[in-house]
Order: sequence, then C-alpha cells, then structure tokens
Amino acid sequence: MKIRLVDVDGWDKKRGKRFPNLALMKISAWYKAQGHNVAWATGYDADLVFASKIFTFTPDPLELAAFRCPVERGGTGYSIDRKLPPEIEAMPPDYSLYPSWRYAVGFLTRGCVRACPWCVVPQKEGSLQITGDIETVAAGRKTVVLLDNNFLAAPDDFVTEQLDKAARLGLRLDFNQGLDARLVTPENAARLARCRWREYIRFACDSAAMINPVARAVLLIREAGYTGRFFSYLLVQDDIGDAEKRLRALLRLDVRPFAQPYRAFEPDYEVDPEQADFARFVNVKGGQLCSQIHFKDYRRF
Ligand code: SF4
Repeated sequence: MKIRLVDVDGWDKKRGKRFPNLALMKISAWYKAQGHNVAWATGYDADLVFASKIFTFTPDPLELAAFRCPVERGGTGYSIDRKLPPEIEAMPPDYSLYPSWRYAVGFLTRGCVRACPWCVVPQKEGSLQITGDIETVAAGRKTVVLLDNNFLAAPDDFVTEQLDKAARLGLRLDFNQGLDARLVTPENAARLARCRWREYIRFACDSAAMINPVARAVLLIREAGYTGRFFSYLLVQDDIGDAEKRLRALLRLDVRPFAQPYRAFEPDYEVDPEQADFARFVNVKGGQLCSQIHFKDYRRF
C-alpha cells in the first residue's frame, strides 16, 4: 500500500518547518515495519494519506481535498480527542523523515496534575502517566528534546532515576514545554544542575503567582552549581500590565522571556492585537529590546 504523509504545519512554505512531527514519524515507522511504502506526499498517487497538524491556527491545506483516497487527519490542531493506536504510539520514531533533524524527540510522561484554565493538556491527556525512559527515547542520539508537559510532577523516584541516567549518559536535555517551577526542590535542583542542557532550562511564568516560584527555582538550581541559561514562557492575556510585571521579574532574574499571546482552542480564534503586539515586543531580537525599553514606549514607534 502507498502511504503518503502530510506535515500540515510544515506545509506552508512561507513559515517553513520548525519541528518534526512525532506522530507522523511513529506512523511511518509502524507502516514501514508492516512492509508498506511510506513517503512524504509529493503528488496525489496514494492509497492512504495521514495528515497531522499541531497548531489550530495552521490552515488545512487545499491540496488534501485533491487526494482520491482516504485522508486521516490527526494531531491537536485537528482534534484533542483523536489519539494514535497504542501499537503505533509505542513505535520508535522514523527519523529518516527529517534527515536534517539531529536530536531525539519524545516523552517520558504524558498529561499533567494541574488544570490551568488556558491549557488543553489535562483534557487531552488526562492526569500524569509515566510513558517512557530517557535512554529509550534518546535511542543513541546525544541531545534529547522532551515534550513532557509536567515532568517534575512524576513520582520523585522516577524523576531521580531519569535525571541521574541522563547525567550518566552525558545527554543534553531540553524540556521544551518548560518545567513546573513550583515543583523544583533542593533535591531535584541538584540533579537538574548536574545534567547537560541543549540551550536552556525552561519554565513557564503564565501568571503573577508564578513569579516567586520561578525566582526560587532559579536560585535553587544556581546554588546547586548550574551556570547555563534559563528561559521562561510568558502567557499574555487581557491584563498587559500583569504581563509586563512578569516580564520585568524574569529579566531581573536573567531569564530569557518568550511571550505567547493567548489562543483559544478554536481554528478561527483571532488573537487580540495588543497581546500579539506585546509578544512581538518581548520576542524581537531574542528578548534584547524589551530589556531596554517598556512596552508603552515601544508602542509609540
Ligand atoms: S501546568 Fe502546564 S501543562 Fe499543566 S495544566 Fe498548567 S499549563 Fe497545562
């Protein structure tokens, strides 16, 4: 059977591909293992097409309507209810789909113990479950991008085991969805400090209540000997003054901020222009501009 794949978020040539699609890599591995012919869709000759998208705001490509075979659509951008069958979810990713991507990518845990009102993770994935092991996810690669939503909420012995193993194997880690600063303790801070990191240790500072936990986590990890960089997501909602307050706190802590305007989980949701403007102000020039001027001054230009 000719299986053809469409990475919908990467379909838009103007924005380019930013991140490999883990679900498509697993689908590819599964169907190749069953002896099928699997490749990217370059024309319309196919027996079955899998299209996956992560972001609700990515438009559905018109090209999908041109296939004369079943087209399976999946990924959070289409539905938070549709999941891979367990036998496909269990497959190691087929990295050959993305030859220039050098890192391993995967999950050690799924789900989250919290219920932040702006987040679909609890609804999509449920409470926290252990799903992987760092050595298996790494699969021989030296840098591992982990998509866990709240790794530190896993039982302490699992967190300890995984961080110790990552340090022993000399892996470079990136928990790219951020770690929960409220769950940093002197014990896990020591282990986080011992690990190697791809670029940053990342947190999220999505409300004013997170300023103190992020400050405490940064201090604990620094005291444990970490000399690398920190990064924090910064959700921007209606109260721009609150976002600016969190931004200033992060800059004082020498944490690189990355702002994201609020997006409801609806394909036609329109981001508030002021929130989008604030996010641009924070993110432009790698966070350099916002460390020099305030948002009200930026808006005058
Ligand atoms: S802690 Fe993070 S993953 Fe968990 S519900 Fe809140 S925003 Fe979502």
